Amino acid sequence: MLASAGRDEDGGDVGNDTMRAWVVGRPAPVDEHPLRLVDRAVPRPNANEVLVRITACGVCRTDLHLAEGDLAPRRPGVVPGHEVVGRIDALGDDVTDHDVGDRVGIPWLRSTCGTCRFCAADAENLCLRPAFTGWDADGGYAQWCTVPAGYAYRLPDAFDDEHAAPLLCAGIIGFRALRRTGLDTTATGDRRLGIYGFGASAHLAAQVALHEGATVHVMTRDPDAQRRALALGCASAQNASDAPPEPLDAAVLFAPVGTLVPPALEALDRGGTLVVAGIHLSDIPTLDYQRHLFQERRIVSTTANTRADGRAFLDAAAEIGIRVTTTPYPFDHADVALADLAHDRVQGAAVLLA
Ligand SMILES: [Zn+2]
Ligand SMILES: [Zn+2]
Repeated sequence: MLASAGRDEDGGDVGNDTMRAWVVGRPAPVDEHPLRLVDRAVPRPNANEVLVRITACGVCRTDLHLAEGDLAPRRPGVVPGHEVVGRIDALGDDVTDHDVGDRVGIPWLRSTCGTCRFCAADAENLCLRPAFTGWDADGGYAQWCTVPAGYAYRLPDAFDDEHAAPLLCAGIIGFRALRRTGLDTTATGDRRLGIYGFGASAHLAAQVALHEGATVHVMTRDPDAQRRALALGCASAQNASDAPPEPLDAAVLFAPVGTLVPPALEALDRGGTLVVAGIHLSDIPTLDYQRHLFQERRIVSTTANTRADGRAFLDAAAEIGIRVTTTPYPFDHADVALADLAHDRVQGAAVLLA
């Protein structure tokens, strides 16, 4: 299907065939429709890349931050989407470890430099020269996209395309955030985990924590999400800023809401850790040292993930039999999906289906 190479407006190699893609025009509040559906040339893979025909793409809150301008666009007219599932359609000349027809997943972390001090120290999530899918390069709100072969994941057979998509960011980042709490997964004693916000990422991380024996308390304003949390086996569910019924050894803040930081810190026991999971957080109010931080309570952030995190999570998801709650949308309704996410109208993870 790729007849001959041309050049697109960004200077990249493209085929002559066209596809449909959603792009971020001018960032604006989601109700002003910042996404536009356009015709684009089907991309051509570079030597180290594979071309993927997309069957499903998750809608992540980061896409919303990008569309609304909370995350500054890194290139004009970028195609969002970084929870991409599809089949390989073509291989770059140097690709040897994939075949045409293979099912792969394309995540947020698109490439790293491999040589900076963070890459050298097994912390490629902190790479000084990283690239991200759907931000630096076109992502999955389209019919095709490319990815460097070394950054595409093989996906467990246990998940169909729709249910595999949310694993690729919501799942992996939530898993890294859970590990950043420092909760000992092998301990037999009490491990009390708080989860603030209960969307796509939280509902997956909660299942890992429950499987590992943690007692999980959920704080969310959404009554339906509270019910889903209890149905999964969480010990309690209450409003977003309410105190959990017991002190927490650790908590993860999934909601991008800085005003939840003080109540979450206050809910921690001595020595507890609050992990912020998102790439964007609204302003954190002034903290009171005695009330929120003394007794060696800590607050830490989560920045992307390593490929090792991704492989560990995908293996765990298949082994645990994680149940992925999705709300599917036809590809043509990407703007509706994004608006529904903004207005808390999505159960679990929104997924665009080709
Ligand atoms: Zn690096
Ligand atoms: Zn994401």
